[in-house]
Amino acid sequence: MYRYISYRIYPSKKQRKLIAKTLQCCDLVWNLALRHVSYCRGNNIPLPTERQMISKIADWIEDYPDLLDPNPYVLTSVISDFYKALSTKKNIRYRKGRSAYRLLSGPDGAVVTFDFIEVPGVGYIRYRQGQRPDGFGKRIVVKRTRDNKYYAMVLMSLPNPNKTNNGGVIGIDLGIKDFLVTSEGHRVAPPSFMGQYQRQLKLLNHELSRRNKRSKNYRKTVYAIQRLYEKIKRQRKDFLVKTALDIVTNNAIVCIESLDIKGINKIHSIARKEVDLAWGEFIDWLQKKAQEYGTKVIRIGKYFPSSQICSNCGRKNPALKDYTIKAWQCPSCGIVLDRDINAAINIRNEGIRLLGIN
Ligand SMILES: [Zn+2]
Repeated sequence: MYRYISYRIYPSKKQRKLIAKTLQCCDLVWNLALRHVSYCRGNNIPLPTERQMISKIADWIEDYPDLLDPNPYVLTSVISDFYKALSTKKNIRYRKGRSAYRLLSGPDGAVVTFDFIEVPGVGYIRYRQGQRPDGFGKRIVVKRTRDNKYYAMVLMSLPNPNKTNNGGVIGIDLGIKDFLVTSEGHRVAPPSFMGQYQRQLKLLNHELSRRNKRSKNYRKTVYAIQRLYEKIKRQRKDFLVKTALDIVTNNAIVCIESLDIKGINKIHSIARKEVDLAWGEFIDWLQKKAQEYGTKVIRIGKYFPSSQICSNCGRKNPALKDYTIKAWQCPSCGIVLDRDINAAINIRNEGIRLLGIN
């Protein structure tokens, strides 16, 4: 099993400069490739293939000798990312200020030593001990966050961890009032990553507006804002991973709705946007962690009317298209149902039906 292990690294001042330069070169290569593509398009010249574009780097080095410095694999990987973007995205933009680059490690692959991580092109970098490496690194991603922390993600071959789940079957309804409700009636409150720091952000932005753009204090405030954003990012990830792990470790089958963000609700607010964003990330984490624990994630079609069916007798009640109804009594069998738990149970039942168990 190959997995990226992330190490916090502490490059020296010289190494930080090298990393910064490499990141700049990545932007430069990306932008030169994009300029060439728009030139070809403008003059009706057929676009070069990825391989041809890679060989163009040698021409660019004549005009930009800085490109000689980074590990050549870094630059070719930028071109390969560029071609991936070219085939999938409509508009590619010129880039500035990227935060990460990847590279191949040496032929023997051993880059993590007892005291240092060897990053080709940068040298030996001190790293935070704690996660002892158990394998060999094949690829490295070097990352610099906006608050100037450095990480090396090393792709390692790890022995299978033999993780198992507790074998339950669960349905999950994603929502706004509660982040999620399970078919067992467990509710997870919505995270307020942004909300918690809204006031602090507002104050800092106000402070920024009063600063002189060329002053040292302006840069200090920018840094403080970026540090706060990174903190929010870390907290969001922590919440999402923990929530996903809690579900995955306890269940063998997890049934979840496919997201239909447009159809769910029409409330527009910051809180709403946050939750939207978190849902997508949450499902990504859920699937990633499910793989580790051998849990099956089943996505239910987005047109499945999970909240309109009575989970007790199966009768459909179209009146429930109204989102404000939180609890209702089934006109057919008389049971009183909580809207979200009922939906989660229906999602669970639909997942079981799709699997063909029963
Ligand atoms: Zn009923």
